[in-house]
Amino acid sequence: MSKRFGSTEVLRGIDLDIADGEFVVFVGPSGCGKSTLLRTIAGLEELDAGEIAIAGRAVDDRSPSERGIAMVFQSYALYPHMNVYENMAFGLKLAKHDKAEIDRRVRAAAETLNITDYLSRKPKALSGGQRQRVAIGRAIVREPQVFLFDEPLSNLDAALRVRMRYEFASLHERLKTTMIYVTHDQVEAMTLADRIVVLNEGRIEQVGQPMELYERPRNLFVAGFIGSPK
Ligand code: ADP
Ligand code: MG
Repeated sequence: MSKRFGSTEVLRGIDLDIADGEFVVFVGPSGCGKSTLLRTIAGLEELDAGEIAIAGRAVDDRSPSERGIAMVFQSYALYPHMNVYENMAFGLKLAKHDKAEIDRRVRAAAETLNITDYLSRKPKALSGGQRQRVAIGRAIVREPQVFLFDEPLSNLDAALRVRMRYEFASLHERLKTTMIYVTHDQVEAMTLADRIVVLNEGRIEQVGQPMELYERPRNLFVAGFIGSPK
């Protein structure tokens, strides 16, 4: 995958296979192209060169909603005038699912995320962690083949970040859906990932299991990034 904005090369030949059900975490410093990578996978940005295939089929000419992907952003972007239930149901209504099916999915997702008690609350009456769960719930109800998470914990305080980390791990254990997760937090990457991909200036520096990268970093950049305390 290659992508430029004007004269800035943001993705410089990213080439990677991700296994079905894998939890892959992309780490790298601010500006290295993490969000752009996710946005191209989601179909929100077009590639200049390369191809994205899901389950063996190129999806490059499919719209975001046709890709079987759900993305959770750093800012949760909940609709303030809708309650939790409506926030989660909204996308399904647009996709013309029937009411019973919407209800089934919203309640199942709420159960999974432990937010059943908040379904009738508006976002402003929720804590940061609860809002984050609603944003994840909105993705879960779509029953995607792939989840994309763009620094989903970066707006939470340190204690909540630790707790939510466990929730992501247990969510993956339960759903077993492929997850592509972006962060600049090494600890998050080390604890969540089946494999970590270290990005630097739009290139992959190294890919491997967390301990592999920790013990055998290929170069100083990886060593500095994975090894240094945050
Ligand atoms: P990260 O998420 O790793 O911080 P981004 O993917 O957001 O990095 O950005 C990578 C580079 O691409 C940055 O230099 C950023 O300024 C640039 N960039 C991102 N989006 C756009 C855009 N829509 N137009 C122009 N430049 C952009
Ligand atoms: Mg980003």
